[in-house]
Amino acid sequence: MTKTHEIVIDKVKESKINSIDFSNLTFGKTFTDHMLECTWRDGEWHTAEIKPYGPIQVEPSCKVFHYGQAIFEGMKAFKDGEGDVFLFRPEDNWIRFNESAKRLAMPEVPKEVFMEGLKKLVNLDKEWVRYGEGLSLYLRPFMIASENGVAAAPGTEYKFMIIMSPAFAYYKGDVRVIIASEFSRAADGGVGYAKAAGNYAASFYPNNLALEEGYQQIIWTDAASHEYLEEAGTMNIFVRIGDKLLTAPNNDRILNGVTRRSIMQMAKDHGITVEERRVSVKELTAAANDGSLKEIFGTGTAAVIVPIKGYKHEDFKFELPTLESSYATLLMGALKDIQYNRAEDQHGWRVKI
Ligand SMILES: *Cc1c(COP(=O)(O)O)cnc(C)c1O
Repeated sequence: MTKTHEIVIDKVKESKINSIDFSNLTFGKTFTDHMLECTWRDGEWHTAEIKPYGPIQVEPSCKVFHYGQAIFEGMKAFKDGEGDVFLFRPEDNWIRFNESAKRLAMPEVPKEVFMEGLKKLVNLDKEWVRYGEGLSLYLRPFMIASENGVAAAPGTEYKFMIIMSPAFAYYKGDVRVIIASEFSRAADGGVGYAKAAGNYAASFYPNNLALEEGYQQIIWTDAASHEYLEEAGTMNIFVRIGDKLLTAPNNDRILNGVTRRSIMQMAKDHGITVEERRVSVKELTAAANDGSLKEIFGTGTAAVIVPIKGYKHEDFKFELPTLESSYATLLMGALKDIQYNRAEDQHGWRVKI
């Protein structure tokens, strides 16, 4: 039996869009007029509501504060030159959201609520998606345990919400990284593959230590041996050695990125050899020493690709060469062309609103 899920809309009386300076946005600080809220209680999802963005009321005993059942997604909407708005591979985010939900013992969100909710919400706040290089609307679906009470057990009430934030190109200057040889963000059998809020909490302290040393991010290695590269901060990792592009295979410590999959496909479309296999720190450093290490970059929705300028591993430091034709530039351009509807969508990734 499939239940149909209703979405009711309560619009703002007056939009706040005219008070927003779209040329001066801090990432994730400004939110659109509306948000979506849907509650799971008594074993089922209730009517989803789209309503004015604003505070939600919860009690101090609310379970998410105590046991950390919180998951999220990050995705974007883009506008083309004609004013049409597109989502990029949104079903992949829905699937991953439910994988995260399952691992955190939270209820799965029906496709209809997630997808129709997103579409209706983006459509309502369409004016907030601006056209122009680097402009997009960042979408943040998330779920929290919203039941009151401090008994250590999964909640019996959850809130699924979507909030949206207009975003400008994400550039934070040069990025140099430390390859982790002590800390880990995820362990075998853990929740590293889930987009769980706690994974971020676990990464902030080691990242602060890196910042104090003048490095912006950490390349996470496998928790057991610290020998293999796994993620670049909160992004997936790619390494170019010679003309080959290498990326770590997914496992339960690695977040299965939509951007990672898209970049792998774009690389193949451009005739670049992509190997999905473990890359050791030894191999990386050997390639650095013999001159075959050309690029390291991270991939993720917020920035698409972040090139890494240099790395440190224990006492070894290396600066990446500046290339005339980098894979990072080529693949980022190719992917953005699809996202902004400037190129043919060969793989059916765009979803028009
Ligand atoms: C979200 C995330 C990524 C990137 O995933 P995308 O789907 O490409 O945005 C990579 N690593 C971690 C740890 C993440 O949380």
